[in-house]
Amino acid sequence: MTEHLNNFSAVTTDAVLRAKELCGSPLYLYDGALLAAKCRAALAMPNAFGIRVRYAMKANPNRAILRIVAGEGLLIDASSLNEVRRAKLAGIDYDRMILTTQEVPEGDDRAELERMMQSGLLYNACSLRQLERIGDFAARNGIRLSMRIHPGIGSGESPSRNTGDHYSCFGVHLDDLPAALRFAEERGIVFSHVHSHIGSGGDPEIWRLNIGLQLGITERFFPDADTVSFGGGLREARMPDETAADIEELGNHAKTLMEDFCRRTGRKLVMEIEPGTFIAANCGYVVTTVMDLKSTGGGGYNFVIADGGMEMNVRPLLYGSRHPFYVIGRDGALLSSEFGGGRDWEAAVAGKCCESGDCQTITADGVSYAHKLARPSPGDTLVIGGAGAYCSAMAPMNYNSHAEAPEVLLAPDGELRLIRRRQTIEQMTENEI
Ligand SMILES: *Cc1c(COP(=O)(O)O)cnc(C)c1O
Repeated sequence: MTEHLNNFSAVTTDAVLRAKELCGSPLYLYDGALLAAKCRAALAMPNAFGIRVRYAMKANPNRAILRIVAGEGLLIDASSLNEVRRAKLAGIDYDRMILTTQEVPEGDDRAELERMMQSGLLYNACSLRQLERIGDFAARNGIRLSMRIHPGIGSGESPSRNTGDHYSCFGVHLDDLPAALRFAEERGIVFSHVHSHIGSGGDPEIWRLNIGLQLGITERFFPDADTVSFGGGLREARMPDETAADIEELGNHAKTLMEDFCRRTGRKLVMEIEPGTFIAANCGYVVTTVMDLKSTGGGGYNFVIADGGMEMNVRPLLYGSRHPFYVIGRDGALLSSEFGGGRDWEAAVAGKCCESGDCQTITADGVSYAHKLARPSPGDTLVIGGAGAYCSAMAPMNYNSHAEAPEVLLAPDGELRLIRRRQTIEQMTENEI
């Protein structure tokens, strides 16, 4: 018996159970066909004079994922020097990457950064100090830079995911812009890109507002720029009652404003976006096995104890994020789907860490709650959806000495491929002296 988990993914109950046979439980499972389709959807965003899409690789940096995304024609947004190195190891050239980082590389890192830039890596100056450190090198070598501006507005899934507000320190703040531009002018530094990233999972209306704001800044302060990047933060819907950003509408709005910009200035700007969540979130699943059922008495909850929790998906604990659940019986029957029937019981979904916050159903204030799903038996499979972005990538993986889980890719032809093995206890301890 096999059924699709939902109506948007190629993942079936059969694929989930086969993946468990392949590498044991728990594991991450990715839908390769959906990943490629999301890349094509991003590339189809309406635009005035061309669009480049950079995949924010911090969402999911597995080599197999990077290769699919790059194969679809996406460029890369790297958030550390190590991410640049990692993308290069995946076979992606430096001239297809931008580096947007809080790091200020020194010493050997600095020397390597210079070599990367000479091979085409685009450096996004995110602070005055970064600009002062790299500016002379760039000017001397005729390398144009990007500048990340702090537009003063932002929006995120939670306050900690807002990167554009006054309490968030990303980019060169508008108040520092005159000093940065004076420095650039003196040293002959040229900016090709004006960049911002105002937050993840935030209000699409704020994203929309930023388009006009950023074009105004570009017109006033960046006469040489040929590209504006509006960053990532395109909201995705993981739960049935959530609404994704309307990229058609946002693209059309950007297109109109960029055409107006061209009429005023004669400049045809290329638009860049840097989606991570939009590309990867709904392509991934955390696959776990139910180990135990408990309850906390009258006035309490039922609990499902799964063999994977916060060490695989920390987003509920970090942000109060909600993720869909699927319950699969041992025979492959889909007992309940967040997007379908069978949700006739209620429980909180806990993991195996010694941490009361190890719960997939938890508010941003750290209080667990019960959620509707089928009542599973120990040995049944509990699948957590919406887990392709910022799950494997940001897992506190070795907490309680739980091993980093394997990753499996469901290829478009239905074949399952192990793309990362399970960590061993030897690997977990190999650097200890
Ligand atoms: C994290 C990040 C992104 C991606 O954000 P999403 O919300 O996952 O789309 C894009 N650009 C930069 C600079 C980032 O830091």
